[in-house]
Amino acid sequence: MTMRARVLLYAISTLALIGLIQAVAMGWLQWSSLRQETELRARTFVDTVAVAATADLAAMRIEDLDRAMGSLVQRNMETLDVRFVAVLDPDGRVVAHSDQRWYGRMATEPLWVDAVHSDLGLLREATFGDRPVIVASRPVVSQVPGATGARWGTVIAGVGVDRISQAVVRLLVSTLIVTLLSLVVLGVLLDQLFVNRLTRPLRDVVGAVQQYARGDLTARAPLARNDEVRVVASGFNDMAARIERHTRDLEEQIRDRTASLAAANQELSQANAALEALATTDELTDLYNFRYFRATMANELHRSHRTGAPVALLILDVDYFKRWNDRFGHPSGDQALRTLAALLKSRLRRTDIACRYGGEEFAIILVNTGMQGALHVAEGLRAAVEAAEFGTDDGTQLTVSVGVAVCPDHATELDTLVKAADDALYRVKGMGRNRVVSVGGEPMEPEQDQIS
Ligand code: GH3
Ligand code: MG
Ligand code: MG
Repeated sequence: MTMRARVLLYAISTLALIGLIQAVAMGWLQWSSLRQETELRARTFVDTVAVAATADLAAMRIEDLDRAMGSLVQRNMETLDVRFVAVLDPDGRVVAHSDQRWYGRMATEPLWVDAVHSDLGLLREATFGDRPVIVASRPVVSQVPGATGARWGTVIAGVGVDRISQAVVRLLVSTLIVTLLSLVVLGVLLDQLFVNRLTRPLRDVVGAVQQYARGDLTARAPLARNDEVRVVASGFNDMAARIERHTRDLEEQIRDRTASLAAANQELSQANAALEALATTDELTDLYNFRYFRATMANELHRSHRTGAPVALLILDVDYFKRWNDRFGHPSGDQALRTLAALLKSRLRRTDIACRYGGEEFAIILVNTGMQGALHVAEGLRAAVEAAEFGTDDGTQLTVSVGVAVCPDHATELDTLVKAADDALYRVKGMGRNRVVSVGGEPMEPEQDQIS
């Protein structure tokens, strides 16, 4: 429940309680005043009847007495709500009654007996025909000279009190209706004039807090009047501003950190790439190194096993390279190896893999290549090397010998395939070099020594 509704409910409940207490108090006052008035009228009525009955009773003119009773009740029925009136003789016998059926009966009820014996008269509550009445009695006393004070009988009358209850209920109902209507009007007025105005600053603060909670860090509470709500609002605003500043700083820091992290990551991946390249590349020739060769050859063999596609291995060895070094020096030998590597690379397909196996030996992996294709490529390389310039003044050329082995024709495992290609190479060397030989095959080119 909102503060506004609660304040309004408290105010209305208090007013309603006050209204209720007022209505009950008014009802009670009304009741007692009407009750007193009714009692007075009842007394007056029995006094009047007693006076009127004195003569008839003294003379025992019962018919006159009856008539008088009847007309008295008739006349006062409406105004006084007289329910009955009776005249009793000194023994307590009914000698006149507004209801003929009572005539001649002896009064036995305690109230009637008390009335017959009371010298001053009674005033009591009783019921008559199941309805509440006030019963008043008065002794009929002789005023006749000589017999003054002699008691000739008793007058008893019952006056209804229903009208009092009805009047009080009417008053209560109308008071309650008026109170209810007043409460509605008062509620609206209270809300508009006080509660709404009083709780608005608080509602504004709540609105700002909710907006802030939804993520709007710029939300601030208005600082209206100089009261407690202002203290709360200004406290919230200070806190919100601090959190906003802190959040912005954090966001900026995160952005900076993220940017530097991204830069560091990029540097790291570049360094990793460089490291990987370094780890897999031969420094002198820029071809893949021995380690890369073994890993890649093993992978290609796996693939060949899986797909059934052949893979060929060429092992190239520079012929008489020791002599080249001896003649032109090691730097020239290094340069020759670089030139040879570039030449091999330029003549191979993108999918073929050229590696420096070690020293002046090279290993070339030809993927998806069978024996015929491998021999063809090997021969092309050999011829290209033979025809290439290596920058010597005297036009000295280099040649290579090539051993060829194919998976699955010659071997299916890495070491056995390398050994098969090595064996073929060994055979080429034995045959005079500058040739291509496959495992168990014939050389493709005649021996042609370049440096001797
Ligand atoms: P063969 O035809 O029988 O292969 O004769 P070869 O002289 O080439 O063979 P050998 O195994 O006797 O000598 C290989 C030479 O290769 C020895 C070494 O000086 C040279 N060599 C190996 N690696 C390098 C290198 O990185 N740079 C230079 N300049 N020479 C190298
Ligand atoms: Mg060698
Ligand atoms: Mg050699």
